[in-house]
Amino acid sequence: MSDYAPLAGKRALVTGASRGIGHTLALSMAGSGARVAITARKVESLDQTLRAMRVFGLDAVPVAMDVTSVASIRDGMAAAAEALGGLDLLVNNAGVERSQPALEVEEETWDLILDTNLKGAFFVAQAAGRIMSEGPGGAILNICSLTSERGIPTAVPYGSSKSGLLGMTRALAAEWGRHFIRVNALAPGYFHTDMTEHFYLDRAWREEMLGKIPIARFGHTTDLGGAAVFLLSDAARYITGTCLPVDGGILASI
Ligand code: NDP
Repeated sequence: MSDYAPLAGKRALVTGASRGIGHTLALSMAGSGARVAITARKVESLDQTLRAMRVFGLDAVPVAMDVTSVASIRDGMAAAAEALGGLDLLVNNAGVERSQPALEVEEETWDLILDTNLKGAFFVAQAAGRIMSEGPGGAILNICSLTSERGIPTAVPYGSSKSGLLGMTRALAAEWGRHFIRVNALAPGYFHTDMTEHFYLDRAWREEMLGKIPIARFGHTTDLGGAAVFLLSDAARYITGTCLPVDGGILASI
């Protein structure tokens, strides 16, 4: 951990921390001084994140939590809060996408995406909010998307979930300010992770997308750490209900 520790003393939980964006955000938060519980559906899948933490002299509490199950959220949140001695920060990052033309989407796909990205995020926020509202409050960060703000073809269930997540961010911020709980969001642009791997294998897609990004490169998950830590830290103490794009300027330019 560096001397700069804006999250020192904070107890945090990151959902979907087994890989990709959640993995990196958990590392950024632990590196900024937070004690972090990392969650995924299976506790074993968190080994890679734990190993990465140890490389940097950090540690985390691994907890199983399937965000599509309210019972699993309740159990996972209780285990995390007990291990950490409370909860101050939440990153609602777990998410899934199945890119597909709207004319072909089956009910099962719609339910999987909405149950994970929107219903799951709400019940995780509710479980965290119950703990935070009993104490001094806290901060929640929802991981939204370009699709929270723009219509993207073949991402109709996903965009619906992420637009809903932005609405949820604003409504929870409006309701929970009185509990001293701030609720904000990040909207990442294009980041190469397991979720988006199939796009990056397509050269024509890569070239077209790069042409749309003012900062002329795709995002690295580490590009998100500073914005996340800022919004979760006391430096953002008067910011709630906002969504910060971290997208190399795409949203500003399309
Ligand atoms: P990955 O597919 O790499 O990681 C997804 C994470 O979510 C994994 O840790 C996975 O854990 C977890 N997860 C999936 N389903 C569940 C579930 N039911 N319960 C608990 N955890 C679950 O995706 P990314 O890192 O790319 O995406 C992370 C977030 O960022 C998502 O919300 C995504 O929508 C958002 N995002 C991503 C962008 C990108 O360009 N990559 C752009 C904009 C937003 P496990 O499978 O081990 O349980």
